[in-house]
Amino acid sequence: MNDTALNQQTDIEVTTYNKLYIGGEWVSPIDGSIEDSVDPSTGKVWARVAFGGTKDIDRAVAAARKAFEGGWRSMPGGERAALMRRFADLYQKNAPKLAEIETRDSGRALRESRLDVGSHHNCYHWFASLADKLSGRTIPIEEAVHAFTTRVPVGVVGAITPWNVPLMSAAWKLAPALAAGCTVVLKPAEQTSVTSLELAKLFEQAGFPPGVVNVVPGDGKSVGAHLVAHEDVNKISFTGEGATAKKILRTGGDTLKRFSFELGGKAPHIIFADADIEQALNAATSSAWALCGQSCALGSRVLVERSIYDRVVAEFVIRAAKVRVGMPLDDSNHMGPQAHDEQLQKTLSYIEIGKHEGAKLVAGGKRLVTGDLVNGYFIEPTVFADVRNDMRIAQEEIFGPVVVLIPFSGEEEAIAIANDASYGLAAGLWTQDVGRAHRVSAKIDAGIVWVNTYRYIRWSTPYGGFKNSGWGRENGLEALDGYLDTKTTVISTTGQFPDAYA
Ligand code: ADP
Repeated sequence: MNDTALNQQTDIEVTTYNKLYIGGEWVSPIDGSIEDSVDPSTGKVWARVAFGGTKDIDRAVAAARKAFEGGWRSMPGGERAALMRRFADLYQKNAPKLAEIETRDSGRALRESRLDVGSHHNCYHWFASLADKLSGRTIPIEEAVHAFTTRVPVGVVGAITPWNVPLMSAAWKLAPALAAGCTVVLKPAEQTSVTSLELAKLFEQAGFPPGVVNVVPGDGKSVGAHLVAHEDVNKISFTGEGATAKKILRTGGDTLKRFSFELGGKAPHIIFADADIEQALNAATSSAWALCGQSCALGSRVLVERSIYDRVVAEFVIRAAKVRVGMPLDDSNHMGPQAHDEQLQKTLSYIEIGKHEGAKLVAGGKRLVTGDLVNGYFIEPTVFADVRNDMRIAQEEIFGPVVVLIPFSGEEEAIAIANDASYGLAAGLWTQDVGRAHRVSAKIDAGIVWVNTYRYIRWSTPYGGFKNSGWGRENGLEALDGYLDTKTTVISTTGQFPDAYA
């Protein structure tokens, strides 16, 4: 379903993915189109991708419904698990290739993609291991009644994924959905759709029944919105921006389907003076610039106790200079470009906002255009010091390699600043005082708090946000819950029912 040809004008090999994966078949879009996918490191088209239209969504949902009713929901959990494991093995085998494609499409440094994509098979295995353990419970009431619950899949799921980590996001949604017995229509983001079509190949190879997983890339506002509004979709699992989530609620609200939302973040990363500063700096600088700043869990707001503030600022400047920014497929580089031009422009505009707000730019701040990087969307690792928490650069999600350093004095102020944000996804804190670790972590409004570590994320640990960072959880048993309904059955053991009108 894909072939590669040389583009004579750009001298770049362009791979065409001209089919959608629907009902176990590779089909041409009915009312969609073939769109360009740009390599953000060169600014040039590297792939052409089939985008579905609304009619394609309709047939994908119909295929998912047919697969759900036709056997997937009632297939013994152990059999679903076996298929998932076969898929996970294929995923593991193909991980190096998938990582390379993800890097090509999103610009994420290959050394990062390899680590991340190389772990996803574990997510599929972990949820596979739960597929035959979806037990309910018995509820003791009285002898004449046997009451019990069963766990049933919610049905057809629309999985809408973002452009920054398409494969990880797909794993976090598909693995629990399939384990629960749901069927899925996956709609990846416009900018990075290719890896989801590669995933579809693996589902096909693993022998999944037709229609259990369907992949339809497409425009969010029309095709994504159609999936959201669809009467026959029972749940939307969405990762993306808060503004889009609100639109989704409005579009899908009429159908009363279920929603889970994994949205943005502006995570506080708090460094107390009593911390192991070296380790804290390792974590804080790593999480400032990983994924070129394009992840909602990153510690983009670093809160530093005043007595060590100057030292931390100086270290950030030194370490920013050590980040090797360059072609993402080159293993020696730490950071690639922003994933698309719009994001690059957004980041550059926030850097201007920070300067106007009076924050002190102490490192980076510019687009990189030398040599090979000339047409790519590269930007310097950027550090703002002397930032106040009420500045826009401290409150709004930039999604670029821009970190803000905010001083504080004492625990209370650290907690107050940390919680003074509309987001509540993640937080980190560094201290060697065990009591303080407990006190502060308990008071931070975030779905996940890391103490003396950062971005420790696994398929088994629930992940998701408070406040504007979302609803529901991905990963962990809580993620599985999101794809299940509880059904209560009450059976009379006597069959006697009194005549109310005797
Ligand atoms: P960003 O603005 O960073 O691209 P979005 O939240 O717009 O983030 O995108 C995340 C995902 O949501 C993408 O797959 C995108 O196509 C999809 N999307 C965008 N708008 C809508 C919408 N109105 N309804 C459903 N999905 C949408």
